[in-house]
Amino acid sequence: MSWREVGQGVFVRRYAELDLSIGLVVGAECALVIDTRGDHVQGSELAAAVREITALPWQVAITHAHFDHCFGTSAFLPAPVWAHERCPRFLAATADQQRAEWVAHYRGEGSDDIADALAESTPTQPDHLVSERADLDLGGRTAQLRHLGPGHTDHDLVIAVPDAGVVFAGDLVEQGAPPDFGDAHPERWPAAADGILALSPATVVPGHGDPVGPDFVRTQRAELAAIAELCREHRTGELTEEQALHRSPYPADTTRTALRRA
Ligand SMILES: [Zn+2]
Repeated sequence: MSWREVGQGVFVRRYAELDLSIGLVVGAECALVIDTRGDHVQGSELAAAVREITALPWQVAITHAHFDHCFGTSAFLPAPVWAHERCPRFLAATADQQRAEWVAHYRGEGSDDIADALAESTPTQPDHLVSERADLDLGGRTAQLRHLGPGHTDHDLVIAVPDAGVVFAGDLVEQGAPPDFGDAHPERWPAAADGILALSPATVVPGHGDPVGPDFVRTQRAELAAIAELCREHRTGELTEEQALHRSPYPADTTRTALRRA
């Protein structure tokens, strides 16, 4: 695996494990690491990989508190760790359950190394909190941290690099698999997707999968709007679950989760 430069000084590193994509933005004075992988061993690997690109001091931005995006943060300390203001509460409330669930998952598939590393990983609480927006001066370029409303979680943070036309969308955009609704706000998600498109990106980096263009986001936005409408009609009793599943653009399991969240 290697870094792919998607804009000048803007890099993506994609991992086979969960098809995760990590971001790196290099300014003249500072680098911004976007998400830190799922355990302390993976975080250390990522930190070493960042050091292959730049020796600059780094800051960390967490797109959201799901373990695969942030349980590796300890490898980057000391550093400012940015996240949305609701991230700490979600992380505190769910970290133990996320760890237990995924340790069991990795043991079940025979990945004992990952299970062991995750079992001994303690997530780092972010210490620089964003309400709606913050602009980070990286030296000669700005990274814009934006909360566009609830979507994949109640605390998604996207990172825009306007001079490169790149937006890191976290799991608000997913390529190669349906979006994950497990902690989602399905009826609000389309508006968050609109917020990404309003940033006028040439390249959008999903939390999982390959970088995409705005057309992909528009297509996903339409699917999310269809799901939001099914959720609304199911919630108000206009549709049975079976009817909603039949009309959904996504597989039954994904749709059932969305209906339950609504
Ligand atoms: Zn997620």
